[in-house]
Amino acid sequence: MAKYEVIIIGGGPAGLTAGLYASRAGLKSLLIERGIVGGQIVNAALVENYPGFPQAISGLELGSLMHQQAARYGLEFITGEVTDISQGNPYIISTTEGDFEASAIIIAAGSEYRKLGVIGEERLSGRGVSYCATCDGFLFRDREVAVAGGGDTAITDALELSRHAKKVYVIHRRDQLRAGQVLQQQAFAQPKLEFIWNTVVEEVTGEKIVNGLRLRNVKTHEFSTLEVAGLFVAVGLTPNSQCFSNIVKLDDTGYIITDETMATSAPGIFAAGDIRRNSARQVAAAVGDGATAAISAFRYLQGQTSGG
Ligand code: NAP
Repeated sequence: MAKYEVIIIGGGPAGLTAGLYASRAGLKSLLIERGIVGGQIVNAALVENYPGFPQAISGLELGSLMHQQAARYGLEFITGEVTDISQGNPYIISTTEGDFEASAIIIAAGSEYRKLGVIGEERLSGRGVSYCATCDGFLFRDREVAVAGGGDTAITDALELSRHAKKVYVIHRRDQLRAGQVLQQQAFAQPKLEFIWNTVVEEVTGEKIVNGLRLRNVKTHEFSTLEVAGLFVAVGLTPNSQCFSNIVKLDDTGYIITDETMATSAPGIFAAGDIRRNSARQVAAAVGDGATAAISAFRYLQGQTSGG
């Protein structure tokens, strides 16, 4: 079985930064990623708030640069899915590509799009139901579409969609947006956006492709229908923490609980980025978490070898 000092689970900005710091500290390190290295930012057309890029940078390019930088210092990578971590010192990490041994682990597995869980959503996913306006927005040129949600993602998506679509309905369950003030001002100034307040999606309709939505007003309990060609679901994120629940403590919503050194409830296991409780869910914050986690893992391993 291959042995590492540190194994990093997840190849987004948090994991790549942890890998950069761990390998530069001389630790034999492996990063395991189940999908594309770069994480969720690879879907972002432009990242405008990551310091050092005053003209903005595409998410794909930023992820690729982080990948190259970490690899330059000897970080090893494999593509595979972690299925289990067994208790012990060292830990055994089971993956779809075999088992690995690690003295310290950094969990940076991020989060994924939360689903509405309504009738028709799964069946019509990829047939008008989408979770990524940057990826799919251009498919709805001159059509009418809807966005479900009221946070930063929903409003960013609605503004992105207004570049392509004829009309964009924003369906929000309350009468006030959660999104930041700057985005709200941009949204209220965009004439293609129409807000449907205090309303939730009950059903996505259409046989082969989306043709509409069944809506419910949560105040009046009245049902209505809305003809749209697409639904963009932007109702937040769910942490990818299911397979770690037996080894580290999670909060009620599934996020990993850490202290300020990124240490979890298990000795030698650290968590970084969107998967941990109270993460700011920004690339800059994930990068900071990754660096902190790697420094903490280094100190933990030093303590182990010196008997401290
Ligand atoms: P979020 O902030 O958690 O917002 C989720 C939105 O969806 C909320 O408006 C929520 O309503 C609504 N919602 C949740 N569950 C729902 C359900 N089952 N049915 C209907 N509506 C539901 O998630 P996010 O917008 O994806 O943002 C995630 C993080 O990324 C945030 O920290 C955000 O600041 C960050 N982000 C930043 C930027 C940026 O430009 N800086 C861009 C995108 C994301 P309530 O408001 O009623 O709770």
